[in-house]
Amino acid sequence: MVDYLQLPILNGKNFNAVTFRCNNIGNNIGEPGFMQCSNCGKCCKDTEMELSSDDIKRLEEMGYSLEEFAVIDNGVTRLRNVDGWCYFYRLADKKCRVYRKRPLGCYLYPVVHLINAGAVVDELCPMGQTITEQELSTKGKILNKLLKKIDNESTHPFSSPLG
Ligand code: SF4
Ligand code: SF4
Repeated sequence: MVDYLQLPILNGKNFNAVTFRCNNIGNNIGEPGFMQCSNCGKCCKDTEMELSSDDIKRLEEMGYSLEEFAVIDNGVTRLRNVDGWCYFYRLADKKCRVYRKRPLGCYLYPVVHLINAGAVVDELCPMGQTITEQELSTKGKILNKLLKKIDNESTHPFSSPLG
């Protein structure tokens, strides 16, 4: 069964809710046109995933406190690791506890941004070869906007809510 998500996507300066397909830790194995996640969990180990203010707000609305799930690294808020795994990763059943509300960067993974290369598929993901050029292009554009937003917030007082 295909799983769809309501996902906030940047449109200009604002996030708009759109429907988007799950891509990691997902249920879309075998679905044509989108990457086929094997649910290996590699992308949740030693995560350095950056968070936007919208990610933080969404997770806080679920009842999690920022101090629990995030750290500040050079002015950028990132997911916290506990014993080498993302705070939200449940090792017992290899599930993301906030799957439907996970950070936008997690939705977009394994598309990542490399300096001087732009949007690429992360070599860490064993299923990266299943991503089409169209998916890479679409996610790359969204990622670009997301990173700009995070960059802007990193110089703004809101970006350092942990102090
Ligand atoms: S929020 Fe979920 S998908 Fe993202 S790194 Fe953590 S466990 Fe993985
Ligand atoms: S590393 Fe790739 S295949 Fe493994 S869980 Fe993450 S997105 Fe899925």
